[in-house]
Parts: sequence; structure tokens; C-alpha cells
Amino acid sequence: MFTKELKESYQSLGIDPKVYDFCMEAEEALKERFASIDKIAEFNQLKVLKAMQENRLSDIHFAATTGYGYNDIGRDTLEQVYADIFHAEDALVRPQLMSGTHALTIALSGNLRPGDEILSPVGKPYDTLEGVIGITPMNGSLAEYGVTYRQVDLLDDGGFDFDGIRAAINEKTRLATIQRSKGYANRPTLSVEQIGEVISFIKEINPNIICMVDNCYGEFVEVIEPTDVGADLCVGSLIKNPGGGLAPVGGYIVGKQEYVENAAFRLSAPGLGKEVGATLGLNATFFQGLFLAPTVVAAALKGAIFAANIYEKLGYDVLPNGTEDRFDIIQAVTLNSPEAVIAFCRGIQAAAPVDSFVSPEPWEMPGYTCDVIMAAGAFVQGSSIELSADAPIKPPYTVFFQGGLTWYHAKFGILMSLQKLYEEGIVVLS
Ligand SMILES: *Cc1c(COP(=O)(O)O)cnc(C)c1O
Repeated sequence: MFTKELKESYQSLGIDPKVYDFCMEAEEALKERFASIDKIAEFNQLKVLKAMQENRLSDIHFAATTGYGYNDIGRDTLEQVYADIFHAEDALVRPQLMSGTHALTIALSGNLRPGDEILSPVGKPYDTLEGVIGITPMNGSLAEYGVTYRQVDLLDDGGFDFDGIRAAINEKTRLATIQRSKGYANRPTLSVEQIGEVISFIKEINPNIICMVDNCYGEFVEVIEPTDVGADLCVGSLIKNPGGGLAPVGGYIVGKQEYVENAAFRLSAPGLGKEVGATLGLNATFFQGLFLAPTVVAAALKGAIFAANIYEKLGYDVLPNGTEDRFDIIQAVTLNSPEAVIAFCRGIQAAAPVDSFVSPEPWEMPGYTCDVIMAAGAFVQGSSIELSADAPIKPPYTVFFQGGLTWYHAKFGILMSLQKLYEEGIVVLS
């Protein structure tokens, strides 16, 4: 039904029938896979709904507070809802947490003291944390406050180096930071089950080591979260998965009450903690975004899997590959040339609801050693749960692609990326 009309609609938006046919074949083959993603979303939808019902979410929680934000019951309820979803004792969910990096910084600096050591048992953390920890010297880094850092890389096969981890743990080790998503690195993303294994191993050596998970891009991809497998703290950004595309700003920290409170003391002030922090009318949006997040994440996952299958079929290297299980929403596609990377990103941009008329260009970016191209036509600036792509312009010319608030938009974005590659003559379709 509507097959002809649909094809015509795509054509009217600039998709060549050959591109359309090629992609439809891939979609057809993914039906079963998509059905299992829908099941995960269904499960997570109920989990979110249950937490909202049990906390008797009501109109009153949507009222705005200003100034100190004392007695903001909407904020307090939101935090309890997050804590319940993560099966954790407590949560800090705030617009004052400005980004994922900021939330991680607060969780770390609130819980570490001079003389403590951080251990990363999963290799180098996300780029922005290098300055925070002081892996690269930076004014105000944890290193400047006497916090040291040790890292144990994953093994070549992506597994944990348990011997290395055992050897790295010492009397100073206070906190293990475990990044779930590969981010923009070249290593597998960890499943929640794998995270549980490394946490158990660390806790067996010393149960007092705080196990913190950088959960960015991982929320609602599986039916359990790191706090379900022993994580003491779990941290992420609201302009990624759990904000459901609606949260205009914010971050969250969930976990053990003591550690969440330490983070709150750092975010506001020692002694004030969670008691202050006006929400300025954002609570309703945070709740609504969280409510939509399971299906938004499912849409993004379908887009990632669809892209993997299409570009794999065309002979490109894709990570994860077309068939493997997913533990985050990021898809890497290695396109082998700057022209291909630029064409891909222009396609994603051209498919956007916002700024579809602009053409992204590779540009110098602070913190990068080469030009970077970014495609994003988002309602929320920098939101990467919305359809977006970015790539450093250097060999092997890998583009990182993520997001999509609806499956149909993610799909259209991928069709458009292929359209641009096809128009440039980089991809030939028979
Ligand atoms: C996005 C992300 C962060 C934080 O990035 P912000 O841009 O500061 O929100 C941290 N770790 C990982 C793995 C991420 O994907």
C-alpha cells in the first residue's frame, strides 16, 4: 500500500529511484531485527511509565521555580523517577549540568580527594575528559588537585585485561571510570553485562572502589543499565538518549546516595547540595523527553543498523557491522576519501528539518589536529540524539553517525547520504 506514493515522495525530496530501491531492499531484510528493537523499547517504555506512576507525577510538578529553587517538587520528583528507572538510591538531574563532560567532571571532582587515584580499565576515556583528569595538562584539572590517573587498555580482542587491572589497583585507587560507549574511538562498545563483569572483578579486589560508568549514548539501548550490574554511579547527558530530543540542556548523575550527594555538593556548594537549583520551567520538558526516550533511542538504533547494512553492502568498513548486537547508538562508516566523507555529511545535513539549506564544510576545531566536518540540523544545538554526523578529515576517513528522533527521519538521512555519494559518482548503483 502507498508504495508508489512513498517512492514518489522520496523522489520529490531528491532521492533517486535507484537509491530508493537499493535501500528498500536492505530495510526489508531488517524486519526481524527491528522488531526486537521495538521489544526493547516497549520494555523500557513500561519501565519509565511505571516510575512516573509510582512517583504520582502530576501537573504540579511542571511548575517553574526561580531564584534558589528551594522546594522544587518537580525537580525532586524528576530525580526520584530517574533513580527508580536506574534502580539506584538517588539522582541529580539538572539543567545546571551543562553537558555530559560537565556531569562527569562533577561526579569525579565531588567524589575524589587529593591523593586519590582514578583507574580507567577500558583504555583512554572520551577526548574531553583528558583535560578534566589532567591526562593532558590543563588548568584546574584533577591532576592539579593531587588526583592521579592510571589506565589499563582493553586487549586486542576488545576484552578486559584482568591481570593488568589487578596490577594497576593499589591503596590509592578510589574510583574506576568505565566508559560504556566507544565514543569516537576504535574499540567495541561494552555491553551492560560486560560492564558488570569488570565491576565485579574490581569490587572483589577492593569493594570500596567507586565504580562510575560514563553512560553517554547507552541509555535505553538495553533493558538494563549499569546501575543494575553494580555501578555505584552512572552519568550522562540529557541532549543525548535520556532527554528524548526534547530536553534543551542538562545532565544526570544517578547512583549511591552518598556519591550523588558528594556530586551535588560540588555542583552547588558543600552543605547546599540538592536543595538548591531553580528549574525555570524546564521540568515538564525533562519528563516528557524521558517519556519519549525509549522510542527515540529505538529510532536512532534502527538508523544505525540500517546505515551499517547499506554501507556494508556497498563494500565499506562499518563498526559495528551489519549483524552484531548494539550497545550504543553510534555508527562508524569508513568511506576511504575526503570527498566521500564530505558528501555523506552533506546528505545528512540536507535531510535535516533545520538548516537543510546549508552545506557543511570541513573546518579547524579546537582540540583537533586536523579539519573536522559536522552535519547537524537540530532543534537543540549540539544535540546528538538528533540525526547528526561528524568526521575528522584524515585517513581512513571515518564518519561517525548517530541519532534520529524518528526512524523515518534517520532513514531519510541515510538515503540522502547515499544520494550524495551517488550524485558525486563515488558510489555506482546498477
Ligand atoms: C558525548 C560523550 C561525553 C560527553 O560529551 P559532551 O559533549 O560534553 O556532552 C562523554 N563520554 C562519551 C562516551 C560521550 O559520548
